[in-house]
Amino acid sequence: MEKIVSLCKRRGFIFPGSEIYGGFANSYTYGPYGVALKNNIKSLWWKKFVQDREDVVGIDGPIILHPRVWEASGHTTSFNDSMVDCRNCKKRFRADHLVEETTGQDLEGKADEMKKVLDEKIKCPNCGKQAWTDVRNFNMMFETKLNTTDEAKEEIAYLRPETAGAIFLEFKNVLDSARVKIPFGIAQIGKAFRNEIVAGNFIFRMREFEQMEIEYFIRPDADWEKIFGEWLKLQEEFVLELGVDKKDISFREHPKEKLAFYSKKTIDIEYNYPFGGFKELFGLAYRTDYDLSNHAKHSGQKLEYFDTETNQRFVPHVIEPTFGLDRSILVSLLSAYHEEKVSGSEEGDVRVVLKLPKNLAPIKIAIFPLLKNKPELVAKAREVFGLLKRKFVCEFDDNGNIGKRYRRQDEIGTPYCVTVDFDTLQDGTVTVRDRDSMEQPRVAVSDLTAWLEEKLNA
Ligand code: ATP
Repeated sequence: MEKIVSLCKRRGFIFPGSEIYGGFANSYTYGPYGVALKNNIKSLWWKKFVQDREDVVGIDGPIILHPRVWEASGHTTSFNDSMVDCRNCKKRFRADHLVEETTGQDLEGKADEMKKVLDEKIKCPNCGKQAWTDVRNFNMMFETKLNTTDEAKEEIAYLRPETAGAIFLEFKNVLDSARVKIPFGIAQIGKAFRNEIVAGNFIFRMREFEQMEIEYFIRPDADWEKIFGEWLKLQEEFVLELGVDKKDISFREHPKEKLAFYSKKTIDIEYNYPFGGFKELFGLAYRTDYDLSNHAKHSGQKLEYFDTETNQRFVPHVIEPTFGLDRSILVSLLSAYHEEKVSGSEEGDVRVVLKLPKNLAPIKIAIFPLLKNKPELVAKAREVFGLLKRKFVCEFDDNGNIGKRYRRQDEIGTPYCVTVDFDTLQDGTVTVRDRDSMEQPRVAVSDLTAWLEEKLNA
């Protein structure tokens, strides 16, 4: 993990947030290559789940919604985590995590039982003492204050703790405007905010993160288990498209007694992270008609579907596939990271290479002149760069020796490096170095665009 964190900083993928002010815990900035990777993952997701489907449409809703939304959804009363502090060293912990990690017991939501186990069996992992405070519930929504017209009065509002809320609010507008027919889905990508008690593990758990969520509306009498299975398959496909190896994922169904009363089934798709093994990557839940019915009750609006074929009016049920964007980025980086012994090199010479799926790589092609101080090579390389950048995301690099440039592009995950050398000036061919095989065939500049297009789409 440290290697990934260090590569991300060194090569401009992810920087620690507010660093010049001494850092701000658990906040991160996506740098030039990180934002490109992030955008590529978002596009892959949007294409797969919205653009390529006739039954899913997208929205982009506000971060601050009407405060009553969170009363209707139950977040103001029950979006809580349990926290406990060590009285000796003052370190704060998620009580349920501490209990589960040390004893294997899942006591989420049972404050008294957790306190008993803590007092009897668990020492503070930080200082080794056993001096726990009571276990308290802590609401994870970030509050903010809105100015109302009455200057003396401020109204509490919340930064959304998930993107799904806005989707339910627009159910009727989408229905009235987009000509969707049940079953249909509404998708959204955007930021969510949670005041996590213990954030950490790089971008795995942050207080500000991005989600990609779909609410898929179905008839109340639909074969929900079949539809649930189809979505699970699609979610698994997406994980594999991030470059993840199948052996690194597992599915964990929530036991019946742990399900929210309205949910009939919830499955976490887990990834084998280098910190603590299998943990949640994505989730899938069948939420019945809980959300629409509650928003209808609290808003006084009818949130129903009228089926013109059967003349029936009903509140649709919903299946919710949810994806964390930052965790998608993390697992694609973890899966792509390779250290390889360079054959034929001095002993111990290792190259670091990010074998990202080509469609996710931030830069597709790097173009180099063999030597920086030969104007004819630089001019020709610029010409090739101009040609290729019309079609692909390219980078021109004439810094340092060619070996160093390859190293840099390997660490960024660039699939192809094109080098203009003296032969290019004679016969119009360039070398194209393949990131994974390190082969370097010569290709005519006149064939280059088609050649690269075929390779990148293979
Ligand atoms: P966890 O059990 O890890 O706290 P969760 O069950 O609370 O996750 P959901 O409410 O299902 O998570 O959120 C949907 C997705 O959003 C998760 O599958 C995950 O990918 C992502 N996610 C949730 N919380 C965070 C966070 N604090 N930082 C980054 N991503 C997150």
